Amino acid sequence: MFDLIVLGGGPGGYKAAENAAKAGLSVCLFEKRAVGGVCLNEGCIPSKALLYSAKLYDYAKGGAEKYGVTSENAILDYKAAVERKDKVVKTLVGGIEATLKSLKVTVIREEAAIEGKTSDGFKVGGQIGRNLIIATGSETIIPSIKNAETCLTNREILSLTEIPETLAVIGGGVIGLEMVSLFNSIGSKVTVYEALDKIGGPLDREISIMLQKIYEKKGVTFYLGAAVKDAAELGAEKTLLSVGRKASTKNIGLETLNVYLERGAVVTDAQMRTNVPNIYAVGDVNGKSMLAHTAYREADVAVNAILGKRDEMRYDAIPSVIYTNPEVASCGETLETAVEKGYKAVEKKISLKYSGRFVAENDGGDGICKLVVNNSDNRVMGIHILGNPASEIISAAAVAIERKMTVEQLKTVVFPHPSVGEIIAALL
Ligand code: NAD
Repeated sequence: MFDLIVLGGGPGGYKAAENAAKAGLSVCLFEKRAVGGVCLNEGCIPSKALLYSAKLYDYAKGGAEKYGVTSENAILDYKAAVERKDKVVKTLVGGIEATLKSLKVTVIREEAAIEGKTSDGFKVGGQIGRNLIIATGSETIIPSIKNAETCLTNREILSLTEIPETLAVIGGGVIGLEMVSLFNSIGSKVTVYEALDKIGGPLDREISIMLQKIYEKKGVTFYLGAAVKDAAELGAEKTLLSVGRKASTKNIGLETLNVYLERGAVVTDAQMRTNVPNIYAVGDVNGKSMLAHTAYREADVAVNAILGKRDEMRYDAIPSVIYTNPEVASCGETLETAVEKGYKAVEKKISLKYSGRFVAENDGGDGICKLVVNNSDNRVMGIHILGNPASEIISAAAVAIERKMTVEQLKTVVFPHPSVGEIIAALL
């Protein structure tokens, strides 16, 4: 009998297990594959490891020349890069396993499902828990297009050890664009087919167009408004299917306790509670934001609810990053979404060339930083950046938006000089 059973060991699940164990609860965690989930094993981390090899290769094969550094006969040993990626994953998975062990979390490496309710709590995988957190994550959407089964998903593409000569990418969203960046750098001829009229999904339109132009210059071909109906027609050596992910809610016994679903995802409130008392759902399975860092925060909120601590999940200041080169990072509303929601919003923008640090490190390059402000109270509603290292700068934006700072308040914050991040201050 446990105080808490966690179903799924990805970022949402392992964070919840760690938090609960640290607070003194007895915890059992079920994971059918490896702890760390998709993010650590076949998503965020392995892709970043390979993208880093690709970035270094870009510099070695000529990108560093502008900075007075030349190297002859740059060679990419892709098998070695993949091996290193596997090592990075192994190290980090080992780290989580060690943490869970040290916190005395019982980890059961099995596929489990909700079996019912007893007088003591919920029966899951033969164990009883007073509380249950569902953290089963998400899975790749396989659309009903012809020959979809011949395509790679994020799982297989990260395990390729040979570089394909040609790569077709169905879906120019986050996964698609990161793989475009990787395979373009390492020598594949890449073509993107995107059903919408822009890449990057909810990305600010101007930034989306700028990013597309950058990759067109690097030799990538984009077809917009191109809903693929037959993957075989694309004629590429390899085809990646990256048309989105859906919550993993099948075969986990949710129907046994009548846990509500909406559009295939578990319905949760601001404390991550489902409609069944003492059952919570965190991470991709609730379909709210499908980002590892959202899952971490949702895990905090769910465990706090179990512990009786006041907490609340908010989704309006969650940063998102596309790890292309250059990176794109966004937080909060774009002008378009703010206006759609009825706000009197205004947008200010500035070229990253106004940052000394950016110019020093991005010879001939350009980027943009955009600020969306609510005109009625002067609060910061959104910040959007194209240019390296956008992923590191966006945290400042997240703080400003989460804390509902006004432009005047943000002006009093001192940004280090020289840093690319001080571009935000230049916009105020
Ligand atoms: P996505 O929703 O970002 O993009 C899918 C794209 O495919 C959309 O633009 C859609 O219009 C297009 N599409 C759908 N059907 C199509 C068709 N038949 N032909 C052509 N285009 C089609 O989905 P994704 O890129 O698969 O990413 C899945 C999830 O993984 C996202 O929720 C994302 O948040 C997460 N993820 C995040 C990161 C990150 O934060 N850096 C990285 C990778 C994945």
